[in-house]
Amino acid sequence: MNPSIDISYSLDRLNINTVNRTNQVTKTAGGKGLNVARVIHDLQGDVLATGMLGGIHGAFITSELEKAEIKHDFVTIKEETRNSIAVLHEGNQTEILESGPIVSEDEQAKFSDKFRELLDLAEIITISGSLPKGLPHDFYQQLVQAAQAHGVKVLLDTSGVSLEKVLSSQNKPYMIKPNLEELENLLEKTFSLEHLEDIQLALVEPLFKGIEWIIVSLGKEGAIAKHRDMFYRVTIPEINVLNPVGSGDATIAGFAYAMTKKLNPYEILRMCMATGMANVRERITGHVDLANVKNYFSKVEVKKSRDSLINN
Ligand code: ATP
Repeated sequence: MNPSIDISYSLDRLNINTVNRTNQVTKTAGGKGLNVARVIHDLQGDVLATGMLGGIHGAFITSELEKAEIKHDFVTIKEETRNSIAVLHEGNQTEILESGPIVSEDEQAKFSDKFRELLDLAEIITISGSLPKGLPHDFYQQLVQAAQAHGVKVLLDTSGVSLEKVLSSQNKPYMIKPNLEELENLLEKTFSLEHLEDIQLALVEPLFKGIEWIIVSLGKEGAIAKHRDMFYRVTIPEINVLNPVGSGDATIAGFAYAMTKKLNPYEILRMCMATGMANVRERITGHVDLANVKNYFSKVEVKKSRDSLINN
């Protein structure tokens, strides 16, 4: 709902209170939802991106999607779509993030209508990232409810109040993918990788009841997953990291793609880990090489247990 133009500037050194010049600039159609769309497209899946875009930044994003031949159908809003700026310097990443446009009630209603129209075309919906200002905190909950009424599965990757609103409602998403920090914030607990059994235990908390799939992604440590009453420990081989940003988005893309291919739970987990890993191997955020995905798919290990998979 809140895409951005992701601008990255590379500098040898960041000098404060003076001019910094660089010719190493990238500008991409960014935000978590567009990362997911791009990776599904890289996997040769059939995907359409939607949300809200405004001003010349919005037009830039549309033209980038067209260049990449990614289908899109956005609602046009009055205020300007945001820029997110990352300055890469001396091994650091300094970011300046605009909060983005304020959406009016009329624009909200237009998007809700568009979403309902698009439900007729969709087999799976992925919802990622934060809400722009002006939209109510329960906006994702409204979308999940509408999708459910239409029999469309929702994969939800958000955090904070918008996630809490969905989880405390009657209408649960089909899948959520918190990382460890998001799980900790949600449950107000801390977890450690030395005690994976605590993470597993957390997934049976009442808050998660009714969610078919929960994947807690653990970066290079893989993931812990719960599907219905089964738990899975997913481990991945060590790989060379080029850019881990957007790996969670690639994981969602892999999961959505695997669902449309009717893969079994083991294959779904292998696929979503392989896409996350393949994203790590690319400089462009939210992008995978199909050859890497296929290679990693065969290297992911999935162990299953109804009770405790840890220590097995
Ligand atoms: P982001 O917020 O950057 O999109 P995230 O925190 O939501 O990421 P992670 O848990 O970091 O998600 O990563 C998702 C998946 O991507 C992991 O489960 C793993 O398959 C892969 N991955 C991430 N980091 C690495 C890494 N350093 N090495 C190998 N695979 C990785």
